[in-house]
Amino acid sequence: MRSITIVGAGQAGLQLGLGLLDHGYDVTIVSNRTPDEIKTGKVMSSQCMFGGALARERKLGLDRWDETCPPVEGISFTVPDGAGGKAISWASRLDVPAQSVDQRVKMPVWMNEFELFGGKLDYIDAGLDDLESYARSADLVIVAAGKGEIAKLFERDAERSTYDAPQRALALTYVTGMRPRDEYSAVSFNLIPGVGEYFVFPALTTSGPCEIMVFEGVPGGPMDRWGEVRSPEQHLETSVRILEQFLPWEFERCGDLALTDDNGILAGRFPPTVRKPVGVLPSGATVLGLADVVVLNDPITGQGSNNASKCAASYLSSILEHGDRPFDQAFMQDTFERYWDYAQYVAAWTNALLAPPPPHVLELLGAAGGHPRIARRFVNGFDDPRDFFHWFMDPAQAQAYLATVGAS
Ligand SMILES: Cc1cc2nc3c(=O)[nH]c(=O)nc-3n(C[C@H](O)[C@H](O)[C@H](O)COP(=O)(O)OP(=O)(O)OC[C@H]3O[C@@H](n4cnc5c(N)ncnc54)[C@H](O)[C@@H]3O)c2cc1C
Repeated sequence: MRSITIVGAGQAGLQLGLGLLDHGYDVTIVSNRTPDEIKTGKVMSSQCMFGGALARERKLGLDRWDETCPPVEGISFTVPDGAGGKAISWASRLDVPAQSVDQRVKMPVWMNEFELFGGKLDYIDAGLDDLESYARSADLVIVAAGKGEIAKLFERDAERSTYDAPQRALALTYVTGMRPRDEYSAVSFNLIPGVGEYFVFPALTTSGPCEIMVFEGVPGGPMDRWGEVRSPEQHLETSVRILEQFLPWEFERCGDLALTDDNGILAGRFPPTVRKPVGVLPSGATVLGLADVVVLNDPITGQGSNNASKCAASYLSSILEHGDRPFDQAFMQDTFERYWDYAQYVAAWTNALLAPPPPHVLELLGAAGGHPRIARRFVNGFDDPRDFFHWFMDPAQAQAYLATVGAS
């Protein structure tokens, strides 16, 4: 039986660990938080997951929340006109509804499942010495520690990283009491030029259904206000004031808002970073990075958990196909490149959205308002952005696409 140790019990680490157990591997997952600490701790994400990621969870029998988690049935897109109205406003349904199950709900259940199926959980905040020790005893060590300090073991890939500084001041506010969107539930995405983005959608948290408000403020701009916040109450107040100032239609939904819990808030920032996939320990032993450790995107496009799911599935295939051969450095590099063949498109699209939109993107987003075909294609492409990548990223291809749908 081949033994694999995974550091990090998040979306990627647990999904991969459970997948490996299914195929008879001896798997240890190292977590710096117990299930109870995760459940009662702070939120770290808004984790909206699209059809492809949900299907992968279903395949592993890990879909436990279809009955309890409110569906996200579509995506709406709005750009304010700066005078209290909307310059662009449209919405389209997702072919397969998305879901956001608070990681504080999901991960403790998956950890329990992992142990039930014979996996071993070690509760350690793993450092280099621990990695050395795991590398001696396991055939393969994978680091799936997200934004944890240990990820710095993996060198930043300057060629593949577009930015070297945070591009948004991020904040999350988990609330109850928000008036639902008319017609169907959706990620209501608002782009305020020069200020930042705000999106909100239904989710399931530890106390039941809620809405998650996500703020993406341009650093130093008027939405970058979280440094002044001293309490959960002030965090909620700041969230509402931002909407009152910039997005009156979203503010109107907030009449009776309350935080789900004092830990249902987050504020922070980080530079989107691609890292080299092979970490070399002081002894010369090598470990492989997974998901956010190696490709960390800004949450503006809501791709991180979806990517974590794709990365875990891709690594699982690579490990299974590798059979009994040694998990050497060449295997690690190839395994990452197979995932990067997909992830590079998500990273490039996400990084493009962090920059001011070029004219062809504004034209596309505006045209989607009058052409439901464009809106539907764009919205459903969040599950796999390669579908629209070519026309989203290239002015000539955008013109050609608009012509084919009769929008130019
Ligand atoms: C504000 C915000 C909003 C987001 N919204 C979305 C969204 O709507 N949709 C989406 O798809 N993605 C979203 N994401 C991104 C998504 O949450 C992450 O990309 C995803 O969780 C990454 O999964 P992972 O398994 O790589 O890492 P994580 O989920 O971060 O898991 C890593 C785990 O490793 C543990 N760990 C860290 N260091 C150690 C150590 N030394 N030893 C042991 N354990 C360790 C951590 O405690 C954690 O449990 C958002 C992120 C942020 C910051």
